[in-house]
Amino acid sequence: MNLFDVYNQYDIEPVRGVGSYVFDKEGKKYLDFYGGHAVISIGHGHPRYTSKLKEQIDNIGFYSNAVKNSLQQELANKLEEVSGIRDYSFFLCNSGAEANENALKLASFHTGNTRIIALENGFHGRTSAAVRATHNFDIQAPINQGYDIEYVPMNDLRAMQSELASGGVCAVIIEAVQGIGGCLTCEPTYLREVYNLCRIYDAILIMDEVQAGYGRCGKFFAFQYADFRPHIITVAKGMGNGFPIAGVLIDEKTFQAKKGMLGTTFGGNHLACAAGIAVLDVIKDEKLVQRSHDLGQEFREKLRKQFGGMFELLGLGLMIGLKFPYATSSIRKKLLYNESIFSGSSGNENIMRILPPLNCKEEEINVFIDGLSKVLEKIEMT
Ligand code: PLP
Repeated sequence: MNLFDVYNQYDIEPVRGVGSYVFDKEGKKYLDFYGGHAVISIGHGHPRYTSKLKEQIDNIGFYSNAVKNSLQQELANKLEEVSGIRDYSFFLCNSGAEANENALKLASFHTGNTRIIALENGFHGRTSAAVRATHNFDIQAPINQGYDIEYVPMNDLRAMQSELASGGVCAVIIEAVQGIGGCLTCEPTYLREVYNLCRIYDAILIMDEVQAGYGRCGKFFAFQYADFRPHIITVAKGMGNGFPIAGVLIDEKTFQAKKGMLGTTFGGNHLACAAGIAVLDVIKDEKLVQRSHDLGQEFREKLRKQFGGMFELLGLGLMIGLKFPYATSSIRKKLLYNESIFSGSSGNENIMRILPPLNCKEEEINVFIDGLSKVLEKIEMT
């Protein structure tokens, strides 16, 4: 049976990972500053993570939500403590798209409305309503186009107000820092004002923290650079450091829980919770949110010093976008094949993304900078 053709792939097969590095069958070492689509938060094969998962699978790997599972409450409590977010209820599911799909559904249940407002260049996943909210028509099938959606430019409050004022909106969905969009950042005042507008027009504000959350941007959630309380927050990617787990945080002051509104077979299973707990324990004990903030600044300083105005620096914390005045695909290929460094692309061919583990080391940042220097030198010469 052939595999369904999904992505353009590099001809490399990592079989082992340690910290910021992955290794292929021949033992060749690659610096992983991409984390497989921004997933690796605490590094590959973190000993606390692997031992927690091994211990859990030796006990019980899975049972559904038909029974009690105290690991879910432990995870919720730890998430509350590490993120500083209070008075939200927590729905566990399996992927970022699923989290956003459920968030949009809740918004529609709550308001009785069906219109969605999303930002241009946003990405929210590939399921039904989530893909419609994603500003990429190539990945929307005709079946997805039944949803009533408006895409508005980022940081344009007037456009947002005008769409909200035209009525019937259930949800506004926003990434505080757009991942696939290329590390483009919402201004804190914009986010606060959008929240105020959502309250005026009775719409639900969903902050999609699937990529930018979990410490990636130097705060636990990227929206925490602005001072407001979203109605819904969605999380995934870094939450499980590679184990499929996602969540929807639902403001208890806004939503009345009604049994049966949401459901899932796999969401919140024992192994997924063990992975999620291990990640939060490491983030807390190794102070990785602060580290992402500080290391992000240091990384940016080094990039500025070494490369001056060769590219524009985007993003926050350790979600770093490099915007060149030309397409970056050949830079990324040379980084990988000549310098053994993984980096990420984005929806904008001129922007590449750097997404190292939050506990990467200073010397690994230097390895990246040396590798990029060599690649750019060659490109300058040709
Ligand atoms: N939301 C954001 C901001 C993302 O970057 C992604 C994936 O890249 C998703 C949602 C979808 O997540 P998943 O691929 O886990 O469904």
